[in-house]
Amino acid sequence: IAAIVVFWAVALIRWVGAQAGLSLSPEIVMIVPLALAAVARLRLFLILPMILSCFLLFLAIEWRINGAVGYAATVLGTLLFAAVSIITAIATDRLARQAWLSKEIVELSAMSDAVTGLPNRQWLNRDLNMLMGLTRRNQEPLSVYLIDLDHFKTVNDTHGHDAGDLVLVAVSACIRHEIRGEELFCRWGGEEFVVLVDESDPHAAQSLAVRIIESLRRLRIPLPNDAKLGITASIGLASTMDGNVRALIKSADSALFAAKAGGRDRA
Ligand code: GH3
Ligand code: MG
Ligand code: MG
Repeated sequence: IAAIVVFWAVALIRWVGAQAGLSLSPEIVMIVPLALAAVARLRLFLILPMILSCFLLFLAIEWRINGAVGYAATVLGTLLFAAVSIITAIATDRLARQAWLSKEIVELSAMSDAVTGLPNRQWLNRDLNMLMGLTRRNQEPLSVYLIDLDHFKTVNDTHGHDAGDLVLVAVSACIRHEIRGEELFCRWGGEEFVVLVDESDPHAAQSLAVRIIESLRRLRIPLPNDAKLGITASIGLASTMDGNVRALIKSADSALFAAKAGGRDRA
């Protein structure tokens, strides 16, 4: 729509100017589409056809107004102006894209965990508020799983911090395998992970927790010294329909504490 409006506005300005005896050069009138492109932040695919169609229109108008006299100079001038405009448009477009990309990269890396590549707590906090709003409005259930590896400090103390990092990566891949792709899974911090599931049935919620526990128990993580390490985890599970984030996390935390106190390796 913008391109069509500009096209006819430019043609009209040039034509009326010529009828009134004003010598408006086409280069000056071409500023109109460029100004609009800048103000409306039009993308390149809109600016290019706009400039090209304005240019073709000028050629026709100049031919009608001036005949062959001075035509070559007008064509050359307009052509140069169009070329400069296109180069400027391309440069602006690239700069805008780069700025947008850098912003996205900075935001993503600030919200991702460097060891596992999972979303981090910051990411979860951002999504959690939104999810809680949805839960409250639609009266939909939300279950949170706090997953804490058992005796992880011993892994670090026995096999070293790098082996500990390998375990975190293997554990995150194992949990990812057990849940659906759309479920939010993040590293809560240290050796703790969080899964958010929109599950309503308490038995289904509980059975996912058991599945995670069992598949972690079966996991054998290869270490650089060729040893294969086993690991277990404890899970605190809480569900809500009232959208209270703090209460939900607190309940999951109490459940996790109970799982640890009950002997670990359980939900
Ligand atoms: P519990 O069964 O009670 O949960 O015992 P735990 O040893 O797992 O818990 P604790 O909180 O005592 O120890 C957690 C350890 O996790 C301590 C810390 O060094 C380690 N840790 C936290 N973040 C990282 C990490 O990014 N990499 C590695 N390798 N270790 C980490
Ligand atoms: Mg812990
Ligand atoms: Mg632990």
